[in-house]
Amino acid sequence: MANPKKFIITLDGPASTGKSSLAKRLSNKLGYIHIDSGSMYRAATLFALRLDPERILRPNIFVKYLSEIKIDFKKNHEEQKIFLNNEDVSHEIRKTYITNEVSNVAKIPELRTFLVNKQKEFGKNKGVIMDGRDIGTIVFPNAECKFFLTAKVEVRAKRRYLEQLKQGINQTYKMVLDNLIMRDGLDTKRVNSPLKKAVDAIEIDVSNMTLDDVYKKLLTHIKKIK
Ligand code: C5P
Repeated sequence: MANPKKFIITLDGPASTGKSSLAKRLSNKLGYIHIDSGSMYRAATLFALRLDPERILRPNIFVKYLSEIKIDFKKNHEEQKIFLNNEDVSHEIRKTYITNEVSNVAKIPELRTFLVNKQKEFGKNKGVIMDGRDIGTIVFPNAECKFFLTAKVEVRAKRRYLEQLKQGINQTYKMVLDNLIMRDGLDTKRVNSPLKKAVDAIEIDVSNMTLDDVYKKLLTHIKKIK
């Protein structure tokens, strides 16, 4: 049964605005479930590429196998893990070959319908914070609390580049910047549920803010609703 004291929080915006880290922290603070919808598109991308021995995306073949995709989230020592058909793929889906292809997979209409239905399921008992691109517009248009984070692409690229350096991922700043520009373009221009601010979402430009500042700001807004 839906919990009357809890509601749905949506956190949308382009890549590398800190959405997932913020959603994770907020979910721990509020006792909410956190769903990183981007990781679902990434898991679907891994599935799609594995269908081809050369890892070439073949959308026409891929859509025939959608019903074989099973995605689950499990929490392990505060860390959210994502499982694709019972395999922990949390690490694999962050690799560059997935990041480079995910926005091409995410624009396949049949996949979007399939994943949006799954995402709606996660929200049926409320008490959910979900981050992504179309959560406030398409997945939960009636959510009680919506945020839309933005930041200049150079700021996002620098953050992502430094983050990847720490993780030992060997990409230049220019490669990271080009990938973000490419994904922003595909995500905002696609016909089916593009990246867009919901009219009733609170927009925050995080370019000059620390993650901590953004976290406090989001929490202040959320407390006004509670
Ligand atoms: O959030 P993350 O950067 O991991 O998302 C990976 C990709 O998944 C995005 O670039 C976008 O193409 C796609 N995505 C989407 N809709 C969502 C979440 C992610 O199309 N709700």
